[in-house]
Amino acid sequence: MKIAGAYWQGDENRQQMTRLYGVSFPKQKELNQYLEMLEEAKKRDHRQLGAEMELFMFSEKVGAGLPIWLPKGTALRTRLEDFLKKEQIKRGYQPVITPHIAKKELYVTSGHYEKYGEDSFQPIHTPREGEEFLLKPMNCPHHCEVYGNRPHSYKELPIRIAEFGTVYRYEQSGELHGLTRVRGFTQDDAHIFCTPDQLKEEFLNVLDLTTHVINKLGFDDFTAQISLRDPDNKEKYIGSDENWEKAEKAIIDATKEVGLKTTTELGEAAFYGPKLDFMIKDALGRSWQLGTIQVDYNLPERFELEYIGADNATHRPVMIHRAPFGSMERFIGVLIEHCAGKFPLWLTPDQFAILPISERFIDYCEEIKDALAVHDIQGIIDNRNEKIGRKIRDTWAKKIPVMLIVGDKEVEEKKISVRLQGEDGDKGSMTLDEFVTFFKAML
Ligand SMILES: [Zn+2]
Repeated sequence: MKIAGAYWQGDENRQQMTRLYGVSFPKQKELNQYLEMLEEAKKRDHRQLGAEMELFMFSEKVGAGLPIWLPKGTALRTRLEDFLKKEQIKRGYQPVITPHIAKKELYVTSGHYEKYGEDSFQPIHTPREGEEFLLKPMNCPHHCEVYGNRPHSYKELPIRIAEFGTVYRYEQSGELHGLTRVRGFTQDDAHIFCTPDQLKEEFLNVLDLTTHVINKLGFDDFTAQISLRDPDNKEKYIGSDENWEKAEKAIIDATKEVGLKTTTELGEAAFYGPKLDFMIKDALGRSWQLGTIQVDYNLPERFELEYIGADNATHRPVMIHRAPFGSMERFIGVLIEHCAGKFPLWLTPDQFAILPISERFIDYCEEIKDALAVHDIQGIIDNRNEKIGRKIRDTWAKKIPVMLIVGDKEVEEKKISVRLQGEDGDKGSMTLDEFVTFFKAML
């Protein structure tokens, strides 16, 4: 399959050897299928498609593992974010915005500093005051501060704080891979603070939101992987036995109630609580870990978060960390490969291309483009001095799903000629209003 350099027992001072990789299958047919899958995966590589479609780029000067979103990629990502933001507002989430850096003490309080160690963080020093800040590796400590900003009564709970929060984590350069392994990324993060009694119901709400999101994006094969703590290695984890047992039970009960396909892994829990990860199968049958939900009894303890109960006494809320996409970067990387760059229409950066038959029609094309923008339908005008046949081929090559052709007749009748890809793609001429209705019906 491939070769690589290797050293005997990993010792670089020895002579280099060559490692040969091979695969074998019980049947020729299975080998063929595997090779076909690899070939198809190569064609769908999100790094290549992302560059061709001008979705994102990397720059040597900016640094490895720090993706830059280009206008088309930003359009796609904004649509995804807007979709989730709307769903979250409907479900009672409150958006916040927090800074990209924080003082070291914040992560000492949260326990992240102790857990991840000094090397995982990138310090920033202010030039004169000599203060030390760290790049934010997680949004949770900031959101704990938001919760702690004022006292809360049990009547206000659950409080759901949401943020598309950009975080930075050190990864070795050899580990970096396109959008799926990066050093800076944005989580579709939220933290829910609730009473222990509300935990299961909130967990069910999050499961409902996450499955809704996954289905809407065209993934229909997924399992929920429940990660529990290693019962023989309890000292690895922060928090009391009682809290761990309560949290693990809430997750297991909720997944049963929803009827999710689950697997259980002992010893795979986060250090602060058990979690549930959505493992999604893509079009090539590959499995990806995307969205995650985690129960946490420990951060509220560390940040001394409280609410006043019905009994007038102070209590600790329970915290749920959740991110349906996981990270925007990784999710979009997986989505590109899943749909081979042919996104669902509502996500497509350029939804149409207007092709004028002659330069004389440019003004009319501009009019159409602006009128469609009002209806949140986005696209481009191909005003190059090329033959129409060439423009049509290029439109399909760019994976733009709808073509609007403008010639003498269309300008005269105040219409556009609509064409989709495929056998019966010619949809005839339509007025602008007819097209908007037609387009919206396809979403
Ligand atoms: Zn969190």
